[in-house]
Amino acid sequence: MRMIILGPPGAGKGTQATLIAENRAIPAISTGDIFRANIKNETELGLQVKEILASGGYVTDEVTNAIVRDRLTKSDAAAGFLLDGYPRTVGQVEALDEMLADQGAALDLVLELVVQTDEVVGRLLARAQEQGRADDTEEVIRARMEKYAEETAPLAAIYRDRGLLRQVDGMGSVKEVSARVQEALDTRPTNGNHSAL
Ligand code: ADP
Repeated sequence: MRMIILGPPGAGKGTQATLIAENRAIPAISTGDIFRANIKNETELGLQVKEILASGGYVTDEVTNAIVRDRLTKSDAAAGFLLDGYPRTVGQVEALDEMLADQGAALDLVLELVVQTDEVVGRLLARAQEQGRADDTEEVIRARMEKYAEETAPLAAIYRDRGLLRQVDGMGSVKEVSARVQEALDTRPTNGNHSAL
């Protein structure tokens, strides 16, 4: 299965992505994790993106696309993968289309975690205290949410038009959300299923 998980910062994408990946035996590929690992290891890429992540902005499409293109050629991604945090812009959607076309592959499903913004900001502030992520200050969280609304939220409509979008209510416990996610993955995407969300 080749899939994308979409949702605003703090929607719980990473948590659900890990669970899905275990369940389906596919790699969860998180561009945010890749960038953070590079920052931690002080690689050239890490130095290049450090300030961008700290401010809540987006790394350029050029840099991000190159990283994903490279990651998708690894053998563990040949039969399927779950992308978490990519694509995030229309340009990245187009780049991913090309990567998949080159491989003669296609996306099966795009899962969107739908959450309430105020709840999500609370989650992020709590995570900031636990994990000390540099981009979890209130100001940067606000910037990330705005960026998401402008650049990434419109991606849901693109995938809906392709009949690939499944929306899942992301509010509730990890277990509750995970049960909904499993159900959504087991149901074939239907065109025009706009649900109540
Ligand atoms: P969240 O979804 O909570 O914002 P992520 O771990 O997905 O966190 O991403 C953290 C940061 O990494 C983003 O705020 C952005 O700066 C950068 N980033 C991750 N993925 C992308 C992407 N596809 N395009 C551009 N920047 C990205």
